[in-house]
Amino acid sequence: MKIVLPGSTIGVLGSGQLGRMFAIAARRMGYRVHTYSPDRDSPTGQVADVEIDAPYEDLDRVRDFASAVDVVTFEFENVPAATAETAAQYALVRPAGDVLHTTQHRLREKTFLRQHGFPVTNFEAIRTSEDLLRTVPGFGPAILKTAGFGYDGKGQYRVSSPADAQAAWQKMAHQEAVLESVVDFEAELSVVGVRGQNGDCAFYAPSANEHVGGILDISASPSPFTKEVAETAIEITRGLLEQLNVTGVLCVEFFLTRDHRLLVNELAPRPHNSGHLTIDACITSQFEQQLRAVCGLPLGSTEMLRPAAMANLLGDVWAAGEPNWAAALALPDVKLHLYGKTEPRPGRKMGHLTATAATPEAAAALVRTARSHLLS
Ligand code: AMP
Repeated sequence: MKIVLPGSTIGVLGSGQLGRMFAIAARRMGYRVHTYSPDRDSPTGQVADVEIDAPYEDLDRVRDFASAVDVVTFEFENVPAATAETAAQYALVRPAGDVLHTTQHRLREKTFLRQHGFPVTNFEAIRTSEDLLRTVPGFGPAILKTAGFGYDGKGQYRVSSPADAQAAWQKMAHQEAVLESVVDFEAELSVVGVRGQNGDCAFYAPSANEHVGGILDISASPSPFTKEVAETAIEITRGLLEQLNVTGVLCVEFFLTRDHRLLVNELAPRPHNSGHLTIDACITSQFEQQLRAVCGLPLGSTEMLRPAAMANLLGDVWAAGEPNWAAALALPDVKLHLYGKTEPRPGRKMGHLTATAATPEAAAALVRTARSHLLS
C-alpha cells in the first residue's frame, strides 16, 4: 500500500479532455501533474505543470516521464502495452496495465465478460473471410466492429448479408473484428464506479444516455429506471471492479433490453463522458475519485446534490461561427466546460454543458435549451 500525498506528482498518459478535468481536480488538491502524449498544447497540457510531447513508442522518453512522477494513470485506454509496461518499471501504474490490455480490445473485453459470467451481447470473433462467411448467415441483424482502437462508434458497420459484411470488413482493411448482434434496446445507461487501493468501492447513480451517430449526446442522472435495474447495474459494476482488480475508476455502459435485461456493452477503465455531470452535481467528481483511488486516499462521497444533465458540444456547434456563449450562460443553472481545443472539427468533442434542476427530466430539457441558445 503506497499513499501518494498532496504535493506529489501524478503522471497522466494521454492528454485529452479527461486528463484535463483530472488535472484540474489534482491541482486543486495540491498535486503536480505531468502529461505524456504525442500532442502539443493539448487539453491536459494546458493545465498540467509539465507537458511531454513524444510518441508512445519512444520508451526512453516514457522511462524519463515515469521516473519523474510518483504514480502514473491513464486518460486514454489505447496506450500501447509496452508503454504501460515501461512506465511500470519506474513508477506505480494505476490501474495496472493488464486492465488496459483487456479493455482496449473489444474481443478480449467481450471474451472476458462472457468467461466471467457477465451478461454481454451475443458476439463472434472475425479473423478471416471464412469466419465471416460461416457466421453472418443465420446471425440476424449485426454490427461489425474493429477489435482494437475503436471508440465513439468509429470502425462500426451495420451488416445484414455476407456481401455487406465482406464490404464492411474490406473498409476495415481486414483487421481483426467482432460481429455483434444488434440489440433492440429500450435505453442505454452507464454506471461510474471507483475502487480504492484497500478494495473499498463507491458508485454514482446510473446515468441514462442518448447517443447520436454512435457518439454520446445527452446523459441525465439519476436515471428513470426501476430501483432493481439501478441496483443490478451497480452490482455488475462492483463485480467488474473486483474481477478486473481495478484501482481507479471504471465506467460500465449497458443496454437495457425491451424485456428489462441488462447487457454490458463496453467498459472504460477511467472517468467517462457520461460521468462529467458529477463535477457540477455530486459531492465528489469522478475525476477527484480517480485521483483519490490512484493515490491510495479514502474515496469521497458520490452523493448527488441535485439532479443533472450533460450535453456534449461537438465541433458541429461551430459550423456557423463562434457559438453564442452568453446566451447559454444566461440560464444561471447551466455550466460551461470547454476543453481548450482550437480546431472544431465535426464530431470532435470540444466541451460540454451541464444543467442542474429539480428533476433529471427538467435538467435534460434545460441543457438542450442552453445548447440551442449557442446557435442563436
Ligand atoms: P460503442 O462504441 O460500441 O459503445 O457503440 C457506440 C453506440 O453505438 C452505442 O452506445 C449504441 O448506441 C450503438 N451500438 C453499439 N453496439 C450496438 C449493438 N450491438 N446494438 C445496438 N446498438 C449498438
